Amino acid sequence: MNVESVRADIVEIGRRMYSRGYTASNDGNISVRIAPDRLLMTPKSVCKGFMTPDMMCVTDLTGKKIQGDRDPSSEMLMHLEVYRQRPDVKAVVHAHPPTATGFAVAGIPLDRAVLAEVLTTLGSIPLAEYATPSTAELPDAVRKYIKAHDGMLLANHGALTVGGDLFSAYYKMETIEHFAKISLVARMLGGENLISREEVVRLQGLRGTYGIQAPAPICLDPDVPLGPGQTAQVVVAGGDDATCQTVQAPAGSGSRLVPDLIDARRRGAGDEAEIRLTYRELSALIEDAIRNLR
Ligand SMILES: [Zn+2]
Repeated sequence: MNVESVRADIVEIGRRMYSRGYTASNDGNISVRIAPDRLLMTPKSVCKGFMTPDMMCVTDLTGKKIQGDRDPSSEMLMHLEVYRQRPDVKAVVHAHPPTATGFAVAGIPLDRAVLAEVLTTLGSIPLAEYATPSTAELPDAVRKYIKAHDGMLLANHGALTVGGDLFSAYYKMETIEHFAKISLVARMLGGENLISREEVVRLQGLRGTYGIQAPAPICLDPDVPLGPGQTAQVVVAGGDDATCQTVQAPAGSGSRLVPDLIDARRRGAGDEAEIRLTYRELSALIEDAIRNLR
């Protein structure tokens, strides 16, 4: 691997993250595996928009600095944990993109079956538990999901993505933020229609056609029988660590898009409808009812 060009790529990705507003001030960090036990990592306390190739640190997989004038990222422990858990991962990107981080702050994972390209690339984007940044708590929170996911939200903090190379890890960060913006707009407009479970299975089958390596299959509820011709692997998550991805996708009974009934009910539809009344209107209704009783 040409380490000089990796240094330049990290500088470029840092610029893109900063210019897109994914990081403010010195937030965020990037690392790349340049040899089986060597990482090239952004340093502590620098703005990702203004890095130079010489600023990067080389560390081993225990976090020991091998080369570089500066200290490695304050989130190094999280990066090390990812490389330990995922031998296939060659790059890790962490940032605080505002819309995705807004979901992370609101405690809402991006796990609804809404966009085909998200389902085929990332699958589901879970929400890792809150952990104090830069402590050993953060790798613990990330460990639960990293085996089965290439991207996740970090509660009240930001987002993390990984990939087989730096650009693919970074593009997943773009996908998460884009998905978060679309989800937010759809919810403001009254809620999403969800892609049906059957269609999710079909999309998962297309991953091979697109040449997409997904980290794990989508978990299917084993109680729901597969349709004819559907051969998706049924995996049930075991233990503490997720081994498959959970996607919210209702059964479609023939239709590929399904209204989000939970949200629709909350918003008020049909018999479950909510109505709003002023105190004056409510008092008038009660007075009417009492008058009718007399
Ligand atoms: Zn952070």
